[in-house]
Amino acid sequence: MIRRRKSKPLQIGDVTVGGGAPIVVQSMTSTDTADAAATLRQVRELAELGCELVRVAVPNREAAAALPEILRGSPVPIIADIHFDHRLALAALQAGVHGLRLNPGNIRDPEKVRAVVREARQRRVPVRVGVNAGSLPPLPPLAEGEAPPPMHQRMVEAALWEIRILEEMDFDLIKVSLKAFDVPTMVAAYRDIAGRIPYPLHLGVTEAGTPRAGSVRSAVGIGILLAEGIGDTIRVSLTADPREEVPVCWDILKSLNLRQRGPTIIACPTCGRIEIDLVPLANKVEEHFQRLGKPLTVAVMGCVVNGPGEASMADVGIAGGKGRGVIFRRGRVVRTVDEKDFLSALIEEGDKVIAEMNGAPPGPRSRVLKKSPLVLRQAQDERLPDSAHGEPVEPRTAHSGL
Ligand code: SF4
Repeated sequence: MIRRRKSKPLQIGDVTVGGGAPIVVQSMTSTDTADAAATLRQVRELAELGCELVRVAVPNREAAAALPEILRGSPVPIIADIHFDHRLALAALQAGVHGLRLNPGNIRDPEKVRAVVREARQRRVPVRVGVNAGSLPPLPPLAEGEAPPPMHQRMVEAALWEIRILEEMDFDLIKVSLKAFDVPTMVAAYRDIAGRIPYPLHLGVTEAGTPRAGSVRSAVGIGILLAEGIGDTIRVSLTADPREEVPVCWDILKSLNLRQRGPTIIACPTCGRIEIDLVPLANKVEEHFQRLGKPLTVAVMGCVVNGPGEASMADVGIAGGKGRGVIFRRGRVVRTVDEKDFLSALIEEGDKVIAEMNGAPPGPRSRVLKKSPLVLRQAQDERLPDSAHGEPVEPRTAHSGL
């Protein structure tokens, strides 16, 4: 059980960030924001995948001018991403954005920050103090022989500089991020600031890279912090279509049982014991239940070693072996089927669980696991201890924080 750091809740449009609210999934469009139709199309695609806040770059007047149309059509709150020019922040606020991101590394004139804060305060629009290791304020001159402070400390100092300006103006609709590519640096920065300010934290590993490496890097950095209870909203930054970012965010949250969206597929990696064609089955099962978007756990397991245990803990599962498989639903064996029927049987049983989630009465109770002839026969064949199979257990369903 993760104990989350307490933070001040913020309202970004109709989405609450911090204060114990479910951790919010964000992404950012990659279109030219000035092209409102293309940007809106991408915003909608992201929202369909479960993105709850979308940030758009506002690098020029043309982008700012497109904001009203984007805001009118967006199904989720929109955050304007501002660098260098505070007048673009003012234009975005006047357009009605739900949130702003300012980079304290490149808007350095306190008067310009104050001008933005006055407008944001009047409109009750939150501001993210968005520090990035790649665009930090210049270092003050160092004394002879003096070592520069470590990167994470410079990041925290940059955030605190802007936070002080905001607080001096009695503005507390603040969210903070301290992103770096280097995971130990970003972890150290977030840990440091988490104990010093009451505001919600937006987590991310910046410029994390191409999909595979970037997803792993992000999962490690964001995951370490989330596991410590730090973080109220997350974004995975990939060198890819932003649609690839959103499922990774959800997989990180699902891995820590922080939130659940769509299916969780428990599938064995296969090994020399396997006697069924498991990999395509697992992919087809994932594809099917992903489409339905229900928070279902599905186990697709290759043999009796871990198969019955995992399958019995899932909402629905299969333990395969020698061209046949035992199908489980909510901890109980419901049938044994031939390999050609694996997919259809899993889909049928999964649909029953989904119907129950939707309020239908549970189906008739089935045989308990111990009475499955296939499992028992295989256990004998494999000379496995009886403990490999066990009694039915509670389904492994994590519906927390929906
Ligand atoms: Fe191998 Fe069976 Fe484990 Fe799958 S469940 S990896 S087939 S031992």
